[in-house]
Amino acid sequence: MLLKVLGCGEAFNAGARLHTSFLLEWDGFRMLLDCGPSVLVGLRRHGIDPMTVDAVVLSHLHGDHFGGLPFLDRFYHAFGRSRPLPVWGPPLLRERLDLALAAFFPGSSARSYELELHSYARSFSVGGLPCLALPVDHDELTHPHGLRIGPLGFSGDTRWTPALEELADGAAVFLCECGVAVPGRPKHCSLEELRLHRQRLRCERLFLTHLGQDVLDLLPLSDFEVLEDGMEIQIF
Ligand SMILES: [Zn+2]
Ligand SMILES: [Zn+2]
Repeated sequence: MLLKVLGCGEAFNAGARLHTSFLLEWDGFRMLLDCGPSVLVGLRRHGIDPMTVDAVVLSHLHGDHFGGLPFLDRFYHAFGRSRPLPVWGPPLLRERLDLALAAFFPGSSARSYELELHSYARSFSVGGLPCLALPVDHDELTHPHGLRIGPLGFSGDTRWTPALEELADGAAVFLCECGVAVPGRPKHCSLEELRLHRQRLRCERLFLTHLGQDVLDLLPLSDFEVLEDGMEIQIF
């Protein structure tokens, strides 16, 4: 599995990082893990034809993580995608996507392909890999989840929560959000907490992502690896 970091930024693009979108490739299968509004920019910067994406999995329904889906959908219709696109996400994915499409592209409900929307349960499977979705502690209205996609773990957006230990356990790579330097800004993990709990995350490699400006101001960190847009990480 190869991880391509299309974007690892937070909602406000601190550090000029694109919104969160990761591309995972294995056995000729291409999956988007989160789909931020700038996903098409991220794919094109990597020289990847957006048409080649096979599936999408979403951590939660904040715009910086799923707001690229209306653009991807309209691109596929405009350029005549014919094969289905399965998308896994939390409850209310269909309702929120319909609202976003109606607001951004009014009157364009035709689709040249089938958009298969799935609400994930705790366990599901994508491209033959076992996946896990665990509720995490973030804005409840966005139905926040952390995810395991085979050997890759991802916190999604969350403040520190014990679910992160399960998501990281045995992962080859764990991507953990670090939205803030010190506790205080609600709904996000702080660098201070991650330093405190580092040993509880039993993964082979841990990368911080979704860095707020106050964390970016501290780079480079001596004790954590940090994602950057454009990175490629071999997972297996
Ligand atoms: Zn976010
Ligand atoms: Zn969020």
